[in-house]
Amino acid sequence: MALDETRFEHTLGVADTARMLARIHGADEEDAYVAGLLHDCAKNLSNKDKLALCKKHDVEVNQTEIDNPGLLHAKAGAIVAAKDYNIKDKGILNAISSHTTGRPGMSLLEKIIYVADYIEPAREERPGLNEVRKEAFTDLDKCLIDILTNILTYLKDSAKAIDPATRETYEYYSKGNK
Ligand code: FE
Ligand code: FE
Repeated sequence: MALDETRFEHTLGVADTARMLARIHGADEEDAYVAGLLHDCAKNLSNKDKLALCKKHDVEVNQTEIDNPGLLHAKAGAIVAAKDYNIKDKGILNAISSHTTGRPGMSLLEKIIYVADYIEPAREERPGLNEVRKEAFTDLDKCLIDILTNILTYLKDSAKAIDPATRETYEYYSKGNK
């Protein structure tokens, strides 16, 4: 797999965490593990390649993504997973595609990958991390909202770009949608 060492540790952490969450919440464990292993498979592509790949496969790219092509590793990852890793399962591909911003109306598997990416054991410490780690196993939807809240606060404080999809996802779930 085209990953450096830190990324590899993160990837195994996400895959294991996703499998555990799948077991607890009743999703397919194998799918969760595979989606976890592949979620960052496009992370090491150049920005130019990520943009070109999305363009070639008619994947919609918004202005925030054009300005911050790093965000595109999720959408590009779904393309690479289908093309180079022969993943045909739409559910797995969606989970890879939505893992950086989430989206309104996520499937259980998508929620699991989104959450696992944030809470995996090698994730650097940040405020409220242990709290959401506990919630991930007891109340996945509450956990999702709390992660989105943390991310929006963090991005606002750091003056980093907020992908509109993150805000849309937050608004969708904070209204009580499941
Ligand atoms: Fe990622
Ligand atoms: Fe990741």
